[in-house]
Amino acid sequence: MDKNPVIEINDLRMSYGKDGKDILKGINIKVYPGEIIGYIGPNGAGKSTTVKILLGILNEFRGEVKIFGKNILEDNVQYKRKIGYVPETAEIYDNLTAHEYLGFLGEIYGMDIEEIDDKAKKMMTLFNIEGSYNSRISSYSKGMKQKLLIIASLIHNPDILFLDEPLSGLDANSVMILKEILSQLADQGKTIFYSSHIMEVVEKISDRILLLNDGQVVADGSFEELKEMSKEGSLEGIFNQLTGFNQHKDIANQFINILKEV
Ligand code: ADP
Ligand code: MG
Repeated sequence: MDKNPVIEINDLRMSYGKDGKDILKGINIKVYPGEIIGYIGPNGAGKSTTVKILLGILNEFRGEVKIFGKNILEDNVQYKRKIGYVPETAEIYDNLTAHEYLGFLGEIYGMDIEEIDDKAKKMMTLFNIEGSYNSRISSYSKGMKQKLLIIASLIHNPDILFLDEPLSGLDANSVMILKEILSQLADQGKTIFYSSHIMEVVEKISDRILLLNDGQVVADGSFEELKEMSKEGSLEGIFNQLTGFNQHKDIANQFINILKEV
């Protein structure tokens, strides 16, 4: 590709705490504008850790991370205005209403207060939660909170969108809306970094899939390319093969046996 990467990660290593073992063990990734990256891997592989590093939330890493061509440690404020983030666990302010929360975020992003209010209401209406615009977020269901997080990640029209398990709590119709939004954003040249362990959707929307296992990227390619590398026909099968996992029956049996113990 001749374009410059919008995200560039070189030999990224990360451990939690001074004597912690390495969670990320030398990751190299280049992401180009307009790509939808599916970042997959087993629970605990380090997906959320990678995303938090890219967002500047964790900065105790080794290696180099560039976003929009700049080292994020040198320019850690400007780039954040042009990225959006749906966190895996919501650090949402429960005591605020959506109106207050989105207003607060929009101001951080330098948006005009009327513009925020107008866009927020319209987006809430499209997600069918406009009736709760002035209710405290603590009264929202899981799915409503997730919709609000998605709106919050998009309201400033970012150039890169980071999504960490964005479907949690969403109903099937909302999942379809989100998939369509992501694909249209990518068509406009926006970059999507989609981290999830749920492969069904990743398989459908990603241009490129990165499989993280034990702190390393063990596969990088389109779904079709990954299929060729592997004997398996589904992303789940490829995932199991590349992570060397084939004990699901055995583990399930052991679970059932525990239930039968007297
Ligand atoms: P994933 O998102 O792929 O499921 P994470 O990046 O959340 O994985 O976690 C990777 C590893 O790092 C796990 O072993 C997890 O226990 C550990 N970890 C994550 N956050 C912390 C933390 N704040 N302190 C210590 N260990 C952590
Ligand atoms: Mg995670």
